[in-house]
This record gives sequence, structure tokens and C-alpha cells, in this order.
Amino acid sequence: MNPSSDRSVAGARALTFPRPEPARVVEAIRSVAGDRAALHEPEFAGNEREYVLETIDSGWVSSVGSYVDRFEQMLAEIVGADRVVATGNGTAALHIALLLAGVRPGDEVLTPALTFIATANAVTYCGAIPHFVDASEETLGVDPIALDAYLTEVGERRGDELINRRTGRPIRAVLPMHTFGHPVDLDALLAVAERHAIVLVEDAAESIGSTYKGRHTGAFGRVGAISFNGNKTITTGGGGAVICTDPEMGRRAKHLTTQAKVASRWEYIHDEIGYNYRLPNINAALGCAQLEQLDGFIVNKRRLAARYAEAFADVGGVHLFREPSFARSNYWLNVLLLDAPDMARRDEILAATNEAGLTTRPVWRLMHRLPMYADHPRMPLPVAESLEARIVNIPSSAHLGR
Ligand SMILES: *Cc1c(COP(=O)(O)O)cnc(C)c1O
Repeated sequence: MNPSSDRSVAGARALTFPRPEPARVVEAIRSVAGDRAALHEPEFAGNEREYVLETIDSGWVSSVGSYVDRFEQMLAEIVGADRVVATGNGTAALHIALLLAGVRPGDEVLTPALTFIATANAVTYCGAIPHFVDASEETLGVDPIALDAYLTEVGERRGDELINRRTGRPIRAVLPMHTFGHPVDLDALLAVAERHAIVLVEDAAESIGSTYKGRHTGAFGRVGAISFNGNKTITTGGGGAVICTDPEMGRRAKHLTTQAKVASRWEYIHDEIGYNYRLPNINAALGCAQLEQLDGFIVNKRRLAARYAEAFADVGGVHLFREPSFARSNYWLNVLLLDAPDMARRDEILAATNEAGLTTRPVWRLMHRLPMYADHPRMPLPVAESLEARIVNIPSSAHLGR
């Protein structure tokens, strides 16, 4: 990290961009979200209580029970996938998705520098190496044009593999993430993946309810993963799902997430090293009730984003990030963007809003700035580094948009 160059960029741009006033940001958020607001709260206004109590009354709270099947079927229908396999969290789902995509120890996987830590960690769990790529101003996710140029420069085709000329390792896959629910340009990224013979895996952890050109995110790549953590649009308490694109993959996902147990009347037989990654029935019950309300949540979240966009229209130096033209976003977390990178002003806005009782957060510290990933391969990251000094997430619970 080079903070002095960040400052000089901000200094040069300050001539043309007004610096946003923290007090005006507080006022604009308040006009939409009220006097106090969390960043993202779950809402349990449907059948949550009834379904969860049913698992308690029946005794089927754990690894067996009908809500898991129901949850998986509901999800498969929503996402438009061949099969969806529920897991105990989204990170586990990503781990399994990468294994199903053929990621092996020693491979490199292209992942955003601007993402939540789980994206990179899931790659590491496979024994593979996250290789960090830059973001796009249009989507906040992986930039297909910059990636294509970069792969042409560092990649060398050997048979059906792409080898990183600098490290000698195969680049196996690209793992884009739909940042804060805004879909990446999937057609463009799929074309890049095909051109360079790599597999596309979607980190759709944040994008339940978001569509790309009319189709739900998560089922465009070879395989995908969603999260149902407590702060996501839909929650199971903790949970996730692997989005599978063919029946054999679905069978493999179920097998790997259930300790690779072989069907048997009573014997404990396991035919490979699997994982205890299944979603308990009690959590799936919560999830079923939540999914029944998905459409309403998305309507409210989109209305909230529209209100913020209006409220910030005449606040100088900032604007609300809006969905890319090809997407319909769930607006999981609304993004307030400073017009120019300015870490100091960003932090002043964070302080003023949080002190006022309005929970706001910066974007994740970029992956290549974290100690365990500082030495990993990466392309130049000018857009991710600029976004890091410009993004402030503001209160985004669905009920705020009612
Ligand atoms: C939430 C999230 C995950 C992981 O989900 P958990 O359910 O918390 O394990 C993975 N990737 C991204 C981008 C996320 O936001």
C-alpha cells in the first residue's frame, strides 16, 4: 500500500471534485432511513416462527428433515439451476463449488482484490492460490476487458491449460463476485473464460434475487455459491448453497457436503474425504419462510435505493452507485461513492454517520493488503484501489424501503 500516492491522487482531483460534507451525508441518509438505522437487519414477518417450531416439535432439527429438500427445491426454481445443494454457510458452498469446478492444489484462481475474505479463503482451502484481479467502475466486480488483456500478457496456452508464464502454475478458474448484489458482465466474462480456457465459478453470495439480462445470477458459470448469513438479503441464521448445472454435479455436491457417506442400511461407509457441510433442518425451515418473501424484500430494497439516489442527487461530491444497465440488482448493501478517492474524507463520513446512530461501513480491506495474501500474484489494481477510498456502505435493510 502506498498511502502517499493515494493522497496525491486525491489532491489532484480535489481541484475538480467538491469534497462531500459529512453533515450533509448524515442528513441525506436520515431523510431516507430515519434517525437510527443498522447496516442490514433480517426481517422475520412470514412463516419463520411456524416452520422453525415445526422442526422442534417433530424433533427433526438437525441433519435430516423435509425443510432441507424444500429449501433446495425452492432455490433451484428461483435461480433456474438444475440442482441446488444447501450447506452450513456460504464459504463452505464456495469451497465445494471450486472443487466441483476442478480446482486442484497448486492451481491459480483469479479472484477479485475487492471482495469479502471468504472468496480468497475458499480458493486457499483447495490448496490453490488466489490471483487478484481488478474491478470495473461499471459493476464493482471483475473487469472483463482488463482481465482479457492481462491474461493475454501473462498466460500461455499449453494444450488445454492456461499457464501463468511468471509462476509456471496453471490458471484454472476465474471466480467473479457480484459485489453488493450488482451482477458482473457475465457474457463478457464467459467469453474471456472461454478464450483463455479457464472455468468460470460465480461467487453469488450477495446476489440472491439479482438478475443478469433477465436470468438469475449464480447459474451462468460451471457452478456457483450463495450465502444465507444473518446479514444477507435472505438468511437461514447461517447457511449457503452450491448451485449445480447438471445432475452429476448435484449428486457430487450432496456427497461431498455429507461426509461422502455411501448409502447403506446402517453401516458407516465413506468412499472419499468429504466434509460436514450440510445445512441443519432448523436453519432450512427459517430459509423456506424467508424465500417465500424474497420478491417483497427485493421490491423494498430497490425502492430504498431509488430514494437514496434521489436524496443524494444534490449532495456534492458523492452519489449512489446504480445497477449496471444489463442487470436488475437486489441492492443488498447500498453503496455511496465519493466522486474522488479520498481515504481521509471517507473516514470522516464513516465517523460522522456512525456517531449519529446510522451504521455505515467501508468496503473490505483489499485482499492484497492483508498479510496472508500480500505476496500473491496480482494484476495492476487501479480501480479496486480507487474504489477502496470511495465506497461507504449505508443502511440497507429491506424494511427501510417500505
Ligand atoms: C457472505 C459472503 C461469503 C460467505 O458467506 P458465509 O455464509 O458468511 O460463509 C462469500 N463471499 C462473499 C462475497 C460474501 O459476501
